[in-house]
Amino acid sequence: MWNVIGHSKAVALLDRARRENRLAHAYLLVGPGGVGKRTMALNLAQALNCTGTESPCGGCRSCQRIKSGKHADVRILSREEPRSEDGSPRKEIGIDAVKHLQNEASLPPFEGRRKVFVIDGADYLSPAAANCLLKTLEEPPAGVVILLLTAREDRLLPTVVSRCQRVELLPLPAALLESLLRERGLSPEQAKVLARLSRGCPGWALTAAASPQFLEQHGRQLDELAGLERAGLDRRFALAARMAGDFSKQREKVEAALELCQGWWRDLLLVKGGLVDYVANVDRLEPLQAGAGAYTEAEIRDAITALREARRQLEWNANPRLVLEALMLAIPTRN
Ligand SMILES: [Zn+2]
Repeated sequence: MWNVIGHSKAVALLDRARRENRLAHAYLLVGPGGVGKRTMALNLAQALNCTGTESPCGGCRSCQRIKSGKHADVRILSREEPRSEDGSPRKEIGIDAVKHLQNEASLPPFEGRRKVFVIDGADYLSPAAANCLLKTLEEPPAGVVILLLTAREDRLLPTVVSRCQRVELLPLPAALLESLLRERGLSPEQAKVLARLSRGCPGWALTAAASPQFLEQHGRQLDELAGLERAGLDRRFALAARMAGDFSKQREKVEAALELCQGWWRDLLLVKGGLVDYVANVDRLEPLQAGAGAYTEAEIRDAITALREARRQLEWNANPRLVLEALMLAIPTRN
């Protein structure tokens, strides 16, 4: 049994290709963080190496070793794996890691049937690493499957993208995710809230369900961003400076914060338009309703436009401090 939550079409596609022995050499799994890309990649690796009767069985030694990251023929490359000396994520996936992959890929499987390489966060491959990987994608060693995972397909080399079979994992509809989370043992209330807060990403929802700290931190960050509307310029500029400082090292953290903030304003717009059922932050309906009453629709739209513009400019490598300060000035003030 595959244990991916949702994505039944993508699972069926990969499983059929596997059973008919016509898997591509390389797949690109595209979708937002927590949507299920890594679970799907590891499930496929299990299915290819499972020794149980119904692959992937999840219970055989091979499935277990893949799950715990110990299988010699299934390798994960990311900014965190293999671990750096001080344990912190690297800035990028470098060429050494890719060369190591190529070396391993040229050898026959050690304990299983098929070698599988998962590059999680393929958009973090350095240009040299991506070019180096290209050679393997062009002339893949027999029997090797490479899975590139990314939330940011636009940051990959087009030549890399064109050599992979693309599988897109879209966020799950809230109602479907809610029922799937209930099947996984979440309470009806928890399933309802997390299906929406996660914006359709099951991994996010399960992490939040398992860790009160995770949700607390999410809440604190949202408080800070939503609270900007009542903050003076000094506090806004202090936040801009802090985020600009983070940007060079943890770009994705800043991007996630801006996305969260844009989600908040989107919710305000939905409430303003009477579409309460569609908001993501269902645990904050009261402040959303109060906020929606305090602004005109035009003000809310302007804030969303400013956020979208800031994200676009950061994408184009504009000066983060200037972009974020301009954004802080554009967010309306509420008394
Ligand atoms: Zn198995």
